[in-house]
Amino acid sequence: MSRTFFVGGNWKMNGSISKYQELVNNLKGARLDDNSEVVIAPPYMYLLPAQELLKGNNRIQIGAQDAYFKPSGAFTGEISSAMLKDAQISWVIIGHSERRTLFHETDDEVAKKVQAALDENVKVILCIGESLEQREKGDSIKVVIGQLDAAAKSVKDWSKVVIAYEPVWAIGTGKVATKEQAQEVHAAIRDWLVKAIGQGDAEKVRIIYGGSVSGANCKELAAQKDIDGFLVGGASLKPEFVDIVNARL
Ligand code: PEP
Repeated sequence: MSRTFFVGGNWKMNGSISKYQELVNNLKGARLDDNSEVVIAPPYMYLLPAQELLKGNNRIQIGAQDAYFKPSGAFTGEISSAMLKDAQISWVIIGHSERRTLFHETDDEVAKKVQAALDENVKVILCIGESLEQREKGDSIKVVIGQLDAAAKSVKDWSKVVIAYEPVWAIGTGKVATKEQAQEVHAAIRDWLVKAIGQGDAEKVRIIYGGSVSGANCKELAAQKDIDGFLVGGASLKPEFVDIVNARL
């Protein structure tokens, strides 16, 4: 089964007006693999300006980095999936480890956010991953499957979800998972999907890897059977993001 390769660029809380213009214009001008779906996730305030810059370009989509589960109301500082839909932002990252750790987001909140996004027809990049301590205890797969179980109750249609396996110890550390480590967890996620939704549908779900992906290490990871793309932090702010999008060329 050939799944369309998927590469997301998570800019986190980085950038400026001139920087997002530079990044978007670089991407617009680059040769991108036709078989690679590309989503960039700038900070909220650059979502609409980036969308404006991408008008007429159907190769690069835009996503938000998070969205609250309530549609509107007195939730100072938050934005909702209903707002993303209103602004025609088609993707949202949910459950990123920085949200889970720095902002104490629980599995239950992640599930509610996933539900709210899918109810608004906003597609979800669902992040899961274990800490270093959990990996050293041999609990990586148990943790990741537990996070999936918690979010799965909100998902009826997995074609609207991309699963991002992002080991916390690899995010922003320069310490990328080996291809064997990543493939082992991706295969376990695929097995979980087979049990949850059956072989046919499980084969269609993209499982992407995130954690210190770079132009230098993307090709060997992309060659793994169950690695269907990447979620990229640091390198999405650099020209090498294009090499990562083109990892299968
Ligand atoms: C991320 O934050 O999703 C990520 C993968 O970051 P980095 O590529 O910088 O490790």
